Amino acid sequence: MSAQVINGKEIVSDYRAQIKDQVASLQSKGVQPGLAVVIVGDDPASHVYVRNKAKACEEAGMYSEVHKLTESTPEQELIELIEKLNGSDKIHGILVQSPLPKHISEERVVEAIEPSKDVDCFHPVNVGNLMIGKEGPLPCTPAGVIEILKKIGADIAGKHAVVIGRSNIVGKPMAMLLLREHATVTVCHSRTKNMEEITRQADILVAAVGKAKMIKSRHVKPGAIVIDVGINRLEDTGKLAGDVDFDDVLDTASYITPVPGCVGPMTITMLLRNTLEAAERAAGLHVTV
Ligand code: NDP
Repeated sequence: MSAQVINGKEIVSDYRAQIKDQVASLQSKGVQPGLAVVIVGDDPASHVYVRNKAKACEEAGMYSEVHKLTESTPEQELIELIEKLNGSDKIHGILVQSPLPKHISEERVVEAIEPSKDVDCFHPVNVGNLMIGKEGPLPCTPAGVIEILKKIGADIAGKHAVVIGRSNIVGKPMAMLLLREHATVTVCHSRTKNMEEITRQADILVAAVGKAKMIKSRHVKPGAIVIDVGINRLEDTGKLAGDVDFDDVLDTASYITPVPGCVGPMTITMLLRNTLEAAERAAGLHVTV
């Protein structure tokens, strides 16, 4: 039987409508959530991401500002801008779009962001809080995956979840959030031996590798939920493809996410949620659910 293709558009639009209502309610108490996005250099893909983030913010009723810096901007100048944003009452979330030019240290930049405004959840303080289960922003892409799983009614507790990829942005925090949801988690990476044997045990398979169509039906247990985080541009057609070979896996999985149109827009939605929650916390109005 063919897998159910997860309707990313519907999930995202429901979620954003909910966020918009919450923003309006916060605004009625005198607080408008604000996001500052900083981009350094001319990478066209990064400019598209930044535009999408700012647009999503405005559509949700939030304040947004985009700071475009040239490729040759000294690191110190970027850090001074972040410090200014750290001190701004209008700004509750700060995001510095990666990649940064080679002469700028991503680590120093991330650490310059005030942890309460770190809506990407890259600051070591927030990564540590995530690890020990303390309240704070959640990493956007993995948090989006958890919300997608909840939306389709997946029962995560006790299930075997296999994450392919161990990056600081996706794989590692993904494993941590699945663990928080009580899954039994295995992480695969480039040194994993017999990966197919491991992925075939997964009830929930999350691919975050960065290799187009690498995951085939032979990697997937019949009936598994397959979440494709990958965004890869195909050299021949220029089209976007995930890490999962969608057509090949369709008849094996029970649910599958399309690329594009599911994890990507859900990631931006979680950025909005983090900005909203940062504004609520700053105003002493955040309620932990
Ligand atoms: P990274 O390149 O940082 O990490 C890739 C991971 O995959 C590494 O841990 C690497 O292992 C592992 N890997 C590479 N080759 C293999 C292999 N043959 N078998 C098993 N594991 C392998 O990528 P990111 O985590 O940043 O991104 C992954 C994908 O997700 C990309 O396509 C990216 O574009 C996409 N992405 C999508 C987002 C969204 O919003 N939808 C957000 C962020 C990323 P090792 O550690 O051993 O090198």
